[in-house]
Amino acid sequence: MTCFPLPANATIGLVGGGQLGRMSALAAARLGYRCHILTRETDSPAAQVAHAVTISDYRDPASLRAFADAVDVISFEFENISAEGLDLLASIRPVRPAPSVLRISQDRVDEKTFLNGAGIATAPWMRIASRQDLGDAVQRLGFPAVLKTTRLGYDGKGQAMLRSPDDLDAAWDRLDPKPLVLEGFIDFAREISVVVARGADGAMSVFDTVENRHRNHILDLTLAPARISAETDQTARSIGRRVAEALDLIGLLAVEMFVDREGKVLVNEIAPRPHNSGHWTIDACPASQFELHIRAIAGLPLPPAVRHSDAVMKNLIGPEGMAVWPEALSGAGLIPHLYGKAEALPGRKMGHVTKLFPRGALPGDFGVDAALGKLAAG
Ligand code: AMP
Repeated sequence: MTCFPLPANATIGLVGGGQLGRMSALAAARLGYRCHILTRETDSPAAQVAHAVTISDYRDPASLRAFADAVDVISFEFENISAEGLDLLASIRPVRPAPSVLRISQDRVDEKTFLNGAGIATAPWMRIASRQDLGDAVQRLGFPAVLKTTRLGYDGKGQAMLRSPDDLDAAWDRLDPKPLVLEGFIDFAREISVVVARGADGAMSVFDTVENRHRNHILDLTLAPARISAETDQTARSIGRRVAEALDLIGLLAVEMFVDREGKVLVNEIAPRPHNSGHWTIDACPASQFELHIRAIAGLPLPPAVRHSDAVMKNLIGPEGMAVWPEALSGAGLIPHLYGKAEALPGRKMGHVTKLFPRGALPGDFGVDAALGKLAAG
């Protein structure tokens, strides 16, 4: 039986061995907890800083059982564990957030159905199970439109932009697994996100709304706070709270949103775990998203998600990112983070750098590039 709040020296099981697990394990260690990582990788960023690791496929029942038996509570940084695997884990130890939450976020159709059902706006969308559905859906939603896999998509993988009827056949043939989802293209003014922590008692802490810039579909920069009106900021935070409440979340949740040209806020997707757009909180907040994640799943009190500084977070991606690592180490006021990955493959998130500014002093676009110096090109 697991008792909450988790006592000091208890063991938190984390499914997934990536950088989100690494930073969660570091936060857990500071609170006096051990982390046990379940991952497929032999040398993973999370296991390098954790107490124990189980290296196994996420589907092997014997490994899942042994992992669950060895820990006090289970959370995850990797979302694509099977429903059966989650149910098996949850039959042995508390899984936070609950498997039902993960199931919604694993499938874009379930996610959008859930969001719209909770009164939260998304881009217009239609489920696409056949080539015929696709033809019908573009008639309804028009061009341009974005066709996406419903499962296993991340960093722009598993999606295609449709600009004319000529694009349909190739996109339909390429994208797998089916079914797909077609979304109307949002000509957004900004992409923003919020990170919310929610405890078992329903208490919530919501970080400031941030602005995200992508390059090649991968997050490149986060600006904290987002340069949006107070009203849009309030709308975004209240959407974050509503999503967390509607999910009955215990843990941490990121909500990615578009702000369209009229200022309307539309949810793109949700992730019930720490998020790349929350990395700035490690350096700019007394308690980071990782600490709030650990506190929420451990049943500890949640401090307010306040920031003491404004911040720019720059991802270091692939070989180009590693090429500017010396600058990340030597540039004035840069706070470097490296994830311990052996190989700098193209598109792989290798680390990030945070630059802090006094509150209210976040520079405009030109100033951001100037503040990052040579890193801006990385
Ligand atoms: P996703 O994999 O859904 O997070 O999409 C990755 C990125 O593609 C987003 O951050 C947007 O920059 C872009 N994108 C996705 N869906 C849409 C959409 N419906 N309209 C416009 N841009 C989109």
